[in-house]
Amino acid sequence: MAQAGAINVMTTSAAGLYRALSESLAPEGPPAWLARAGREWPLFEAALRLAPESEAAQRAATAMAEIGAEPHAERGARYRALFSGPGRPPVWLYESAFRNGRLLGPETFAVEKFYRAAGMETASAELPDHASLELAFLGWLAGQEAVDTESEFLKKHAGRWLPELGRTLARSGDEVYAPIGQLLADWLEESLAPALPRMKRGEVCLPAISQADLCTLCGFCAQVCPTRALAVRETATETALILDSARCVACGQCERICETHALKMNRAGDEGQDSSSSRREVLRRSPRAMCRACGEPMVSRAELDFVAERIGHPAWLEYCVECRPAFLEKQS
Ligand code: SF4
Ligand code: SF4
Repeated sequence: MAQAGAINVMTTSAAGLYRALSESLAPEGPPAWLARAGREWPLFEAALRLAPESEAAQRAATAMAEIGAEPHAERGARYRALFSGPGRPPVWLYESAFRNGRLLGPETFAVEKFYRAAGMETASAELPDHASLELAFLGWLAGQEAVDTESEFLKKHAGRWLPELGRTLARSGDEVYAPIGQLLADWLEESLAPALPRMKRGEVCLPAISQADLCTLCGFCAQVCPTRALAVRETATETALILDSARCVACGQCERICETHALKMNRAGDEGQDSSSSRREVLRRSPRAMCRACGEPMVSRAELDFVAERIGHPAWLEYCVECRPAFLEKQS
């Protein structure tokens, strides 16, 4: 009974967190409570309740506690600066626009279908793939303890873009929306891996480098990965692209962004891949290129060679930015 009670508190708190996140990104602008100091927000309360179980919630509660009150009009100005036009806003709040650059795309209709299948209809005039509606839906699912539908919705929709939306807001530096974005990204990343069912061996796809010399270690795949399953690690001598297969949700965003087509989604079981257990694997490694003058490490040799080939192998490329002017001066 105690265990069931604990689960219930957790799901109720998660539902509250989703609802407060939904309100903070509402299409009509910031809710009245957002004008208060962070400590008085329902979002803070929800994070505080989840803090014993969640590092993301703990970090967020600490960050929100630092936010002071501000007139609602000022909060509105922050909202408009990030999410309103004229023309293309700095940050899209619609899944279709965020992922594909256009409003009312296939995701919009797919999300609506999802809501209908769960017995929900959107009462507002807003498009169904608005971040606020997707978060409200997640809140409703968490409250119902509809774990399978929640996992499916995370896998197909919310998990594919809301973490990146959160990270974009975190990078904005806005005093109010950056911590909210950080919470959105961290909470979803923390929830994604365990919430999504691991698919059976032979059914799941994992990224793999099909041809090592095509990978320039540019790191774009790691930047778009919503769960941080991919990461670029740099030491003084080496750069490596690392996959944590336990965090991969097989969304394929890494494959789509890879310009050189070095990275392909492969079926687990193909080429010796196994997604059934957590493991880290180096997909690509390259030594760091060293400056010919001072010997300091620069970018990876893979990236430098790629750039050199494109611009005709100029000798100055082998020198770091500090040593380059002296080298060029000697040449002239
Ligand atoms: S796999 Fe592609 S996107 Fe990723 S680091 Fe290599 S070249 Fe860049
Ligand atoms: S498929 Fe690629 S982008 Fe998607 S979770 Fe896995 S590693 Fe990250």
